[in-house]
Amino acid sequence: MNRESVLRIGVLMPEVLGTYGDTGNAMVLAQRAKRRGFGAEIVEVGLSDPIPSELDLYTLGGGEDAAQSLAAQKFREDRGLFRGLEAGRPLLAICASLQVLGLWYRDARGERVEGMGVLDVTTDPQGARSIGELVTAPLLDGLSSPLTGFENHGGGTVLGSDARPLGRVLKGVGNGCPEGQVPGLVAYDGVLQGSIIATYMHGPVLARNPELADLLLSRAIGADLEPLEVPGVCELRAERLGAAGIEGGAVAD
Ligand code: GLN
Repeated sequence: MNRESVLRIGVLMPEVLGTYGDTGNAMVLAQRAKRRGFGAEIVEVGLSDPIPSELDLYTLGGGEDAAQSLAAQKFREDRGLFRGLEAGRPLLAICASLQVLGLWYRDARGERVEGMGVLDVTTDPQGARSIGELVTAPLLDGLSSPLTGFENHGGGTVLGSDARPLGRVLKGVGNGCPEGQVPGLVAYDGVLQGSIIATYMHGPVLARNPELADLLLSRAIGADLEPLEVPGVCELRAERLGAAGIEGGAVAD
């Protein structure tokens, strides 16, 4: 893509997948593209709209149990997002969206809901809600700084063999452990599969993690991007990582 074309960034169903300011992720992407001289447009796709398959990048946020079941039904029935993913379009999914893109999830009342099935994961209630700062060491090439966000979810997600985690947990819970299962010695957050990057981090996560924002942007644009300093971002990261007890933002081995 060149600087004459306009990057189209989708925000899917913000009325049901838009908790904790997650729609801000699209704004961060658009601003970081514009500051580098690219055109960028945010395309809001509502619950009753068809999902376009030709957007350059998709963002999906978190949601409450009842709201996310509406999104799950829509994703199963509308083929637009399936086609976009088949074409390799990058997608960022947060919390409820991570669950909804999976094979199935069980909500807090124990009701099992079929997911879109594009992530090889399943989710069950953890018993206790995970709330607080979440920091991970990234496990994705191109990311070197700790990922920071906050989590607030009841579900715990187990990854199948086609899915990899996004990060190793330094602080917080992340994917967690469904009730009745034995927790692993090492905890992980998020899911990587195909062109999807999913995480339990709100924040919005891209405001706190410009490296992740730029990785998504460079995948959408199809080129490496020059560095971009946005005033205040380093201070925000230092403050949030400090609040989580992570010294100087360094990733310990
Ligand atoms: N309703 C889901 C859960 O509690 C997701 C919550 C969220 O998106 N923050 O696990």
